[in-house]
Amino acid sequence: MDTARLTCLTCGQANRVPLDRLDQHPRCGSCGDPLIAAKPAELDPAAHDKATRGDELPILVDYWAPWCGPCRMMAPEFAKAAQALAPRVRLAKLNTQDHPEVSSRARIQGIPALILYHKGREVARLAGARPAADIVAFVQGKLGGRG
Ligand code: ZN
Repeated sequence: MDTARLTCLTCGQANRVPLDRLDQHPRCGSCGDPLIAAKPAELDPAAHDKATRGDELPILVDYWAPWCGPCRMMAPEFAKAAQALAPRVRLAKLNTQDHPEVSSRARIQGIPALILYHKGREVARLAGARPAADIVAFVQGKLGGRG
């Protein structure tokens, strides 16, 4: 059976989930939190690095900051996109004010910025605030039918 490795965004534990159970609300074997939440998870640097470097399920990260008006405007759109893309893609947020070293490593030049990662690689990035439909179309276009 095909499985996907995905990092628990709460505790950082690597989990292996059968692909045909992604839509059955899989939970982390370590902390019990949902592995695929209905709303974007807030990442700490450790979870960010594990998920973007090792996960076999695509993850879209929103690099944002509390002082950034366009970031705050986009937040509900990003949450809508998370619902539309679940459970094939996870969406998460990284606070660049709290974790500037992470955004520096990701070479973020301006926020909001979205980076799509899959199997340890950066697939594509999208700059600027976007409506949910644009975010969904961006992800689906970049992943094609391979999901
Ligand atoms: Zn966990």
